[in-house]
Amino acid sequence: MINKKYKEMLNAKNVIRVLSEYATARGQEIGYENVFDYSLGNPSVPCTKGYTKAVIDIHENEDPMAIHGYSPSLGNTMVREKVAAHLKKRFGLPYETKHIFMTSGAAGAVAHAVRAVTVPGDEVITFAPYFPEYNPYVNETGAILKVVPPRTEDFQINFSEFEKMMNENVQAVLINSPNNPSGVVYSESTLEQLAAFLSACEKKYGHEIFIISDEPYREIVFDGAKVPYPAAYYDNTITCYSFSKSLSLPGERIGYLAVNPKAVDGDIIATMCGQISRGIGHNCPSSTPQLAVARVLDETSDLSVYEANRNILYDELVNLGFTVVKPGGTFYILPKALEDDSVAFCNKAKDYDLILVPADAFGAPGYFRMAYCIDTEKVQRSIPKLREFVEKEYGR
Ligand code: PLP
Repeated sequence: MINKKYKEMLNAKNVIRVLSEYATARGQEIGYENVFDYSLGNPSVPCTKGYTKAVIDIHENEDPMAIHGYSPSLGNTMVREKVAAHLKKRFGLPYETKHIFMTSGAAGAVAHAVRAVTVPGDEVITFAPYFPEYNPYVNETGAILKVVPPRTEDFQINFSEFEKMMNENVQAVLINSPNNPSGVVYSESTLEQLAAFLSACEKKYGHEIFIISDEPYREIVFDGAKVPYPAAYYDNTITCYSFSKSLSLPGERIGYLAVNPKAVDGDIIATMCGQISRGIGHNCPSSTPQLAVARVLDETSDLSVYEANRNILYDELVNLGFTVVKPGGTFYILPKALEDDSVAFCNKAKDYDLILVPADAFGAPGYFRMAYCIDTEKVQRSIPKLREFVEKEYGR
């Protein structure tokens, strides 16, 4: 008998995918260049030449039996060593090989981190606006995802609501900065307040409460700002990283999980992930991407297009009278819709070939997300459409 739960999940359509498919179909009618598709968070710049060269060199010059063989279940040891050294140098925490577990992207890292620090029935708290895939990432483990409502004035953590929701069943909080969908970078004071509150709760409830810090956008940050590194503020932190966005490699499925060496049981959590892998069929990511990223850990794609796009869109949205928090990074922006029903708002936008995503699924009803990982030229061409839409539909 097939599993009813997964069968029922087929009916729950992913709004982003649905809109992206609509954009593709519309593109076939009128030319994709005329569809202003702000739906999907797929990077729009190529990976670095360094990464490509590394892949070619590995294939041409390394032992084929070694590179195409199974890598160890925790990931290639040399790669883990290099990742640990990279993190140690960059963030000053004493990472060693034993703290690193190579994963299939951030998704793989979060799936392992949740399993490492919860058992079925435990609660994991996250903060809206949040990445909707956190629902399956957490709920499929048997743990329960609880979402703190957003603090809409700046999309930092809404501590007053968080404190009300905290209880002894919470074993982990899942954070994401720079944030998808708001683009907001959590400030030092947010992370300090989070660390202080969680430390007090650990004492009160008599068990560890882990931060699982999902950081696929760590390198995409604007105005020369630095992203505060959550693990530097709180010992019981598991960092989940991905090369999907920084090196434009989402198809390669490569990332890592890094356990803060100062965490309780910090020396064994990454090794435990090897056991978790056995149960979920992850069994370590492909070996060539592991070997190749290890050679370019200090590189990123040319991410400047995202800042250029952010500037154009933010200025125009403000001009048009939208309420919007200025993104500090990522390639997302989350303005307030011009009517309460953001689904209706985004449906009307489709008539102008503007593909915008209602943020209800992100825990921010009344808002909409624009993923501006598209060519700057297209962003510029979308502005007259945006003006026409706002003027005709909302008289602005
Ligand atoms: N977490 C967030 C916040 C994301 O936006 C994404 C992808 O868009 C992921 C995790 C999954 O990333 P990956 O491709 O590395 O699995």
